[in-house]
Amino acid sequence: LFVAFEGGEGTGKSTQARLLFDWLGLHEVPARLTSEPGGTPPGARIRALLLDPATGALAPRAEALLYAADRAHHVATVVLPALDAGEVVLTDRYVDSSLAYQGAGRALELEEVRRLSSWATGGLVPDLTVLLDLPPGAGLARALGRAAADRLESESIDFHERVRATFRALAGAEPHRYLVLDAGGPAEEIAAAVRERVAALLPG
Ligand code: C5P
Repeated sequence: LFVAFEGGEGTGKSTQARLLFDWLGLHEVPARLTSEPGGTPPGARIRALLLDPATGALAPRAEALLYAADRAHHVATVVLPALDAGEVVLTDRYVDSSLAYQGAGRALELEEVRRLSSWATGGLVPDLTVLLDLPPGAGLARALGRAAADRLESESIDFHERVRATFRALAGAEPHRYLVLDAGGPAEEIAAAVRERVAALLPG
């Protein structure tokens, strides 16, 4: 079972992925918690290159290729081996983040980013994508306390609105494969909704 957590800045993806991981552990379900960008050693270097302000502005296609390279290595060396071993894989961000940020956010053609992502992953699609949805103002306020604050502030609210709208449109196009939750609620309520959906997908 492959589950992706997606959403904008400060929506609680990492917290929710961790809560689900802990719950699976409690029930002795073998699971792997991972993340993008940077979920592998080479990926950590790609992440540093992408997110270090010293890199300067990257051409949109160069940026999209670096995220795709990070993801290709992540899928090949972490996600697929864990799935093959029968583990439940939880990833904090996946393809939808590229569609939202590199596609809508940076005005690349969504279909181009989709083809690039599909090539990078060999077409691996999550069984469930949990979209944590929040208006950008609220999410940014939460995220600004953290390390990447300068970089986040350099993007306009409009950029984050486009990112959010893309996430929501992706979910709307495939409602059976998505769980869209209001990320403004209490973390424990959100976690309970995620657990209920995941429990229904677990074998036996
Ligand atoms: O989820 P996390 O906070 O680790 O992501 C780091 C940053 O990378 C995010 O703030 C987001 O702006 C950016 N990002 C991106 N495109 C992706 C994934 C993440 O621009 N595909």
